[in-house]
This record gives sequence, structure tokens and C-alpha cells, in this order.
Amino acid sequence: MAISFEVPEHVQQQTEMVRFVAEAMMRPLSREMDENEHARPTAFIEQMWPIMRDQQKRALDKLEQSTDGDKREKRASTTYLRYMLMIEMLSWGDAGIYLCLPYAALGGAAIEAVGTTEQKLRLLRRFAEGDQPAWGAMAMTEPGAGSDTAAISTTAVFDEETNEWVLNGEKIFCTNGKLALEESNGLVVVWATVNKEAGRAGMKSFVVEAGTSGVRIGKVEIKHGIRASDTASIVLSDARIPADNILGSAEVQAGRSTQSFKGAMATFDATRPMVAASALGVGRAALEFVKEKLAAEGVEIPYGAPYHKLTAIQRDLLEMEAQLRAAYLLTLRAVALLDAGEENNLEASMAKVKAGKVVTQVAQKCVELLGMMGYSREWLAEKWMRDAKISEIYEGTNQINTLIVARRILGYSSKELR
Ligand SMILES: Cc1cc2nc3c(=O)[nH]c(=O)nc-3n(C[C@H](O)[C@H](O)[C@H](O)COP(=O)(O)OP(=O)(O)OC[C@H]3O[C@@H](n4cnc5c(N)ncnc54)[C@H](O)[C@@H]3O)c2cc1C
Repeated sequence: MAISFEVPEHVQQQTEMVRFVAEAMMRPLSREMDENEHARPTAFIEQMWPIMRDQQKRALDKLEQSTDGDKREKRASTTYLRYMLMIEMLSWGDAGIYLCLPYAALGGAAIEAVGTTEQKLRLLRRFAEGDQPAWGAMAMTEPGAGSDTAAISTTAVFDEETNEWVLNGEKIFCTNGKLALEESNGLVVVWATVNKEAGRAGMKSFVVEAGTSGVRIGKVEIKHGIRASDTASIVLSDARIPADNILGSAEVQAGRSTQSFKGAMATFDATRPMVAASALGVGRAALEFVKEKLAAEGVEIPYGAPYHKLTAIQRDLLEMEAQLRAAYLLTLRAVALLDAGEENNLEASMAKVKAGKVVTQVAQKCVELLGMMGYSREWLAEKWMRDAKISEIYEGTNQINTLIVARRILGYSSKELR
């Protein structure tokens, strides 16, 4: 598929508006939110809620009006390109504060990927109305199941008498888990097995809404980076949810089909490019900062000069710029396919691996180039170095996403290459 590298005018305009938010509302809070991990950027949340809410409302209104809402939109659009550039800019502002945005987030992406039109309209409505912000989240990870999702041991049993699913288990490291279930009328998409022996074929996703009895927030993590972001464990003890809060089919097919599992994993085709976009924003923040500081000392990149005439620092800067650009282009490709309604599983993982690796290296190099002040808490460079690392961990580690890339290129199944 041909990709246009031109960003349309209306997308550019929106990104410029987001630049204002990032510069004026996020950057000034960066250090404070990093130092006070479990505080909330309340003013930012309050100001962003009407914007996020109206965006969700427009999407739901459109879905309501469309006759074939369950089908993925086939015509070319710029929805994901807009998200990508918006997330890049917000993460340039602050990656942790960006994660505090009140919206359906990963939970919404899961519902979008596998929910029916009825489920989307019913479950996502809370993100489209009201004065109070709401958050969505997705809980897959457990103490005994991280990369190996087949090891998930949270169970879901159907109670025919009450027409409910009964969930038991513990989820950990859930981004926005507390915000979704304890601090708003949000929801969490929880992965559980309806038949442990069936492995991935028995794995289903369930929507647990705030206020569900038998659900409580356990540990709230103290983290290395993105400290403004809420990361919590969720304990499910006979948590009862309505029968129609299961996403996709409830059946475990006789042939052990993993179709439903694969469908749910499609969530990541939309979200991994967004993690890449966030990484790009942190990388750009670090690179711009170090270039500014070095320029003040008279060190700039003489673009076009022969390579052998560059100093070691100029070469470092050029390399960082080139790597970030390469990651940007890969992300653009993953997003262009998404917007065209095309399959992008390979490109989504490629973009995430590349952007995660690049931002980690770029942010670390910035600290190095800034000398002792790079390590000081007076500047944000050391914080960007800490914030960068998460891009290589969540939504599939770099090793797991590299495996996906290898499988797709070589034509192996997940059983053959693990
Ligand atoms: C801040 C934060 C927020 C998070 N938010 C969420 C969330 O919202 N929802 C959620 O469900 N989870 C979330 N997670 C969890 C995250 O997705 C997991 O940490 C991740 O999937 C890795 O799982 P693990 O930590 O158990 O590592 P493990 O799976 O135990 O892996 C440990 C190491 O071994 C490597 N490894 C594992 N298997 C292989 C293999 N087959 N080949 C090569 N290397 C391999 C991994 O890459 C990693 O380097 C979050 C984590 C963090 C830190």
C-alpha cells in the first residue's frame, strides 16, 4: 500500500493545538508529578475531560448512525494518524501525565476490536457523557502470567441461575486500574479462562465495570518511570458480571480454535503503534533538550558536512536523529495501514520494537551528553531516561514483539517459534 508522508492540514492543525496542551499544561507539572507518584494531575484531567468526552461522543454517534458498525471501516481515514501525532505530542509533554488522560484507553481498544455494536454503544457511553471523568483499562498480566498469556489462571464460570459470569483471580500492573474501578465510573477489560485445559482457546475477555461487587484494588505500584501513571493490582473474588459483558463468543470450540483469542489480540494492532508514538514523543523531548543545551555551548550539527569532519558528539546527535526518524516512519506505516483498514500486525510490532529501543538509547545518550547535569533532578533528562524504558516492556516486551515480527516474516506459528 502506498503511504503519503504528508500530514494533512487538518491533522497538523490539531497537533498544534495539542502542542499548546503539552507545553502549557503538562511540562510545568512534569517534575512535581514525578516526585509525588500517587498524586493526580487534577487540573489537567478536568480540562481534558470535555475534550476526550466529546471525541468519544462523536465516535459513538457515528457508530449509531452507521448500518454496519461491526465491520472495520474500510475507507481511508486519518483517525489513527491523528491519534499517533497527538500521543507523540502529549508524551513530549509528559508520558506519565499523558497516561492519566480520562478516556477508554486500552479497555476501549479491546471493546473496539471484538465488541458488538450493542456492546460498544452500551459500554463506551460512560466515556461520552457526564461531568465526571472516567477511565478504561485492560488487565491481562497476573503474578504467573506476563509474556506467556496462555498461563492466565483467572477463571470465569457461567452461573446459569443468575445469568452472570463469576470471575476469580488476581491481575497485576494494570495501567489506570485504580482510576477505572475506584476513582471513576470506568471499566476494566479482564482476561480470564473459561476452560484452563483448552489453553488459548479457552481464553476470553470480560468487561468488569466500576461498582461490581467482589472487585477490589490491591497494591498500587511505586515505579521507576511514568510515575504520574496509575498502576494497580485488581483482586477478583466471586466478582459477578452480566452475561453479555463477555467480549466475543462464549463458546470454546471443539476443535480448540483460538480464533477468539486471536481476535482479542487484535487489540494490540491498534495500540502498539500508539505505544511507539508515545516513545517517539519522549525521544524527541530528550533530543530537542540536549540539542538546545549543546547549541548554547556552540555545538550544532553541520548538516551536509562530510562525515569525517564531524566531531564524536555531532555524530551521536545525527545518529539519534536518524534513529528517531526511522522509528517515526515505521510507526507511520503501521498507522497508515490501520487507517486504511488493512492488516498491520507485523508493522505494529515492528514499530513498537524499533521505537522502544530507540527511545531507550536516545534518552540514555542524552543523559550521557549532558554530563553531571544530565543525571541531576534539576533537569528532566534523567526523568525521560526513566520514562523511556516502559516502551520496551508493556503491550508485549521487545523480545515478544520481535518474536511476532519473526513469525510473520518466516511464516511460523506461535507454537513453532516461541
Ligand atoms: C508500568 C507498567 C504498566 C503495565 N500496564 C499493564 C496493563 O495495563 N495491563 C496488563 O495486562 N499488563 C500491564 N503491564 C504488564 C506488562 O505487560 C508485562 O510486564 C509484560 O507483558 C511482561 O511480562 P512480565 O513482566 O511478567 O515478564 P516475563 O514475561 O516474565 O518476561 C521476563 C523477561 O523475559 C523475556 N521473555 C519472556 N518470554 C520470552 C520468550 N519467549 N522469548 C524471549 N524472551 C522472553 C521478556 O521479554 C522479559 O525481558 C504493565 C507493566 C508495567 C511495568
